[in-house]
Amino acid sequence: MIQGIDTRRPPSGPGCVECERDGSWWFHLRRCTECGHVGCCDDSLGQHASAHAEESGHRFIQSYEPGEDWFWDYRTAQMVDGPELAPPRSHPAEQTVPGPRERVPADWQDQLLRARSERAGRSG
Ligand SMILES: [Zn+2]
Ligand SMILES: [Zn+2]
Repeated sequence: MIQGIDTRRPPSGPGCVECERDGSWWFHLRRCTECGHVGCCDDSLGQHASAHAEESGHRFIQSYEPGEDWFWDYRTAQMVDGPELAPPRSHPAEQTVPGPRERVPADWQDQLLRARSERAGRSG
């Protein structure tokens, strides 16, 4: 077994743990390969997948989007190959992107663009 990847651990649920808790919404979802935490991607407002990796030290995520199976290694900041994880390997196909449908604001694209340019401004 690769350190940091537990192939028997199921994902935490169909949506980002923190966004569900906060009543927020996400763009794309990522799954922690060590503890199963599902979090939102860096293009989401919450960036909870990266926050989880930083807090926990858990090194790898896998995309939780249907049809995607790439892994990301936070330590090397590179895409890597990984083993098949416990199902389900993506959020439900009927779940919208962004999601969840009932909480996505009408101006979600503007919100994401604004957040991205604010982040770019912060980092110089
Ligand atoms: Zn989130
Ligand atoms: Zn984790």
